[in-house]
Amino acid sequence: MVNGTTPASRQSAGSNEVQAVERTTCCVVGGGPGGAVLAFLLARKGIHVTLLEAHPDFDREFRGDTIHPSVMELMDELDLADRLLELRHTEIHNLTLQTAAGPFTPIDFSRLNTKFPYITMMPQTSFLEFITEEAKRHPNFRLKMGARVRELVEEDGVIRGVRYDRRDQDGSHSIHEVRALLTVGADGRGSRVRRLAGFEPIKTSPPMDVLWFRLPREPDDAEGTFGRIGRGQIAIRLDRFDHWQAGYVIPKGAYPELRAAGIETLRRSYAELMPDFADRMEHLKDWKQVSLLSVESSRCPKWYRPGLLLIGDAAHVMSPVGGVGINYAIQDAVVAANVLSGPLETSQKQLKDLDLSHLAEVQRRREWPTRIIQRLQALIQNRVLSAALASDRPFTPPALLRLLLRVPVLRDLPSRIVAFGIWPVHVRE
Ligand SMILES: Cc1cc2nc3c(=O)[nH]c(=O)nc-3n(C[C@H](O)[C@H](O)[C@H](O)COP(=O)(O)OP(=O)(O)OC[C@H]3O[C@@H](n4cnc5c(N)ncnc54)[C@H](O)[C@@H]3O)c2cc1C
Repeated sequence: MVNGTTPASRQSAGSNEVQAVERTTCCVVGGGPGGAVLAFLLARKGIHVTLLEAHPDFDREFRGDTIHPSVMELMDELDLADRLLELRHTEIHNLTLQTAAGPFTPIDFSRLNTKFPYITMMPQTSFLEFITEEAKRHPNFRLKMGARVRELVEEDGVIRGVRYDRRDQDGSHSIHEVRALLTVGADGRGSRVRRLAGFEPIKTSPPMDVLWFRLPREPDDAEGTFGRIGRGQIAIRLDRFDHWQAGYVIPKGAYPELRAAGIETLRRSYAELMPDFADRMEHLKDWKQVSLLSVESSRCPKWYRPGLLLIGDAAHVMSPVGGVGINYAIQDAVVAANVLSGPLETSQKQLKDLDLSHLAEVQRRREWPTRIIQRLQALIQNRVLSAALASDRPFTPPALLRLLLRVPVLRDLPSRIVAFGIWPVHVRE
């Protein structure tokens, strides 16, 4: 099947006219880390792929900026690591919490056997622009920005593509259709594709929410990312080079009460844990500057249907514990490309449907690593973080945890899981 667009002024999608129909082999919905990496990997294998992203650009606030060692190793396998590291970034070599019992370091990447023993902190915008620029080197890749998917195209129970809405700069909007042998829903935690396909995720409700806001950066601020736990509060700050992204963790559902107490309470509470930032808290003037992230964790029992596959947060929303969501979305993309490139190439040549067993294989390989990590995250949230949030005493890590982390064979296990996930993934050539 060849990438191509034909005018379709006579086709209709409900009451709306479809302006053009494009044909491709794989239509990826969502240009986040999962969708962008999958589209790039398929394009470099010669598969015709169209990536649809709802936003007009990759610049947005609510994204993690972490690139874990496993992703750097994948980039290295693709010969992209050196160039990626030329982009502005910082490195986190360990995660140390300031606690009542002194500094506590549950994660230390420096002992791991990898070329990249650190988390690379890079604005996600830079990473996504980098990957899509690489994909554009392949003529069989198409990127449509500002393309918001509204409907699935379904025929006889098989998903044959999507219809998307495109808003132009003059404010007018038009409807387009992409027809594909495979549609991949990589459209994140609130996935419309997942909903339209009728998948119902199983929810686990971890006990926290996170408030996010920006704070200004001073010229002599030290670089890096910091976290502090104490007296029922958790505060973090992420280095965004030209500003700080501040996070303040609160018990689930506590937001209305905090809001009623006034913005001054948030300013004071954050400064208690980050005293060196006390003088710049005055920049936080209004609740309009604060966004609430409802922490959730869920997974779909089934990730595929004839003609459709879900990956990344669309298939499984990861808790922020350990910051593994990006890692997992990219690992899904790599496994999907490994499993599906060959069958898609055959289907592309012979114009025949993709066998369902290949889609099932992607879920089979990725489901258990996801389930295990979600169990571990829930354990940490329930036993450590919610206990810290419920206590008015300074935080002390559980004694058993401190003891286990002194045992040589066990001490690197948390670092290895955060760095690589449960099951390492490699690009198959
Ligand atoms: C505040 C916050 C902080 C986080 N911090 C971290 C962190 O530090 N480390 C980490 O690993 N993870 C972090 N995460 C989680 C991480 O962002 C996700 O797990 C990861 O981005 C999932 O990647 P994805 O490609 O599956 O989906 P997303 O990154 O969510 O990408 C989905 C894309 O689909 C697009 N889209 C949505 N609907 C449509 C539509 N209808 N049509 C077309 N396009 C559509 C969206 O615009 C988006 O670009 C954080 C999440 C949040 C909210």
